[in-house]
Amino acid sequence: MIIVHKYGGTSVATTEKIMNIAKYLGSVKDAGNDVVVVVSAMGKTTDALIKLAREITDKPDSREMDRLMSTGEQQTIALLSIALQTLGYEAISLTGAQAGIKTSGHYTKNKIADINGKEIKEHLSQGKIVVVAGFQGINEAGDVTTLGRGGSDTSAVALAAALGGKCEIYTDVDGIYTIDPRVYKKAKKLPVISYDEMMELAFLGAGVMEPRAVELGSKYGVEIYVGKSLGEKNGTIITSVEKVKENKEMEEKVITGVSINENMVMVNVEEITTNAQNIYEIFEKAEASGINIDMISQNDVTSHHGSFAFTCPKTDIAALEKIGEEIESEFPQTSFIINPYVTKVSIVGIGLISNIGVAAKMFKTLAENDISFHQISTSEISISLVVDEVMGKRIAELFAKEFDL
Ligand code: ADP
Ligand code: ASP
Ligand code: MG
Repeated sequence: MIIVHKYGGTSVATTEKIMNIAKYLGSVKDAGNDVVVVVSAMGKTTDALIKLAREITDKPDSREMDRLMSTGEQQTIALLSIALQTLGYEAISLTGAQAGIKTSGHYTKNKIADINGKEIKEHLSQGKIVVVAGFQGINEAGDVTTLGRGGSDTSAVALAAALGGKCEIYTDVDGIYTIDPRVYKKAKKLPVISYDEMMELAFLGAGVMEPRAVELGSKYGVEIYVGKSLGEKNGTIITSVEKVKENKEMEEKVITGVSINENMVMVNVEEITTNAQNIYEIFEKAEASGINIDMISQNDVTSHHGSFAFTCPKTDIAALEKIGEEIESEFPQTSFIINPYVTKVSIVGIGLISNIGVAAKMFKTLAENDISFHQISTSEISISLVVDEVMGKRIAELFAKEFDL
């Protein structure tokens, strides 16, 4: 059986931790498994690398940023391989490119286009533990690329899918909770969660998993185990709705979790003729800069003159400012206002599909606590609100209490 393990930044933050992981991986190998391990950069290395570039300029070239950021993971793969070898195991480190991970898309936010697992399988057949750099791949131009922050999860699930293996994600929290346990101490650990709910929670801000990793798991039917302790299996399994329903430990609830996304900005475009052509022009510019537009709302307009708002990731602020300058010079009466002091709070649950009254309950909580909001959006299984940043955690806690999470 091929098992793909993934260890995040905190888990590999010191050589002592790396040595402990090596010992555990050795025991998994000794039990007769073929072991592939994906690692992130040590501790806050990726942040430190980004900071270095920002010491030079606010707007570093994204191709060069990929080159720079990809170096973090390369330290870890070498150190973990050295640790495994010291323990007497045959191990080899591979960069994303060497592991056959091909990517496409924009620099710094690439997607995995294809994985050729031949190289890894050859090493496995020679009895080696294969240590792969997460978060990176190679594009058609032959450049090293990265998959967006938190992208090592995606590397791990994609490798498990390509190699036909199991996937285990080890992180600094012992499973998936109903709400980030750092925000709400009374959050409950979920034994299982469906792909769809996890994808939605992750997409809406629960940073414990990268949403694309969950999407790949769902697409290729790879169950994802998320946990902390090496050896003990007391974490959470991300799996199909059918398997979640079979799990006796799961309580039936309408809402499964709450997520908070602080990594976002809201843009208000005011005094613009809100016809499709103008809005297309703005979003076309955003697309050309690789900005992922999230919620869009339009204020009540008369004779198509009014304002609209949208949200997108905080990391796109530099590109947004540039677009704002272009729009304001093209439409002199228009204001393009970027508000970084907002947070999105969302409730997520498959139960939303078949239960009425959830929105009423949510707004009752807001009304009772005299809380205002900027934007609302819904999907089949979630309701999201954009609120002032200072209110985000309080609202999340109120929802957790209201929905017994
Ligand atoms: P890694 O470096 O291992 O990838 P991350 O920092 O990306 O780890 O993810 C783990 C963190 O995710 C936890 O420390 C926790 O604060 C946060 N988190 C957010 N939402 C949740 C949730 N619903 N359940 C568990 N952890 C969560
Ligand atoms: N090291 C990268 C990051 O910090 C990738 C990851 O940790 O998954 O975003
Ligand atoms: Mg992560």
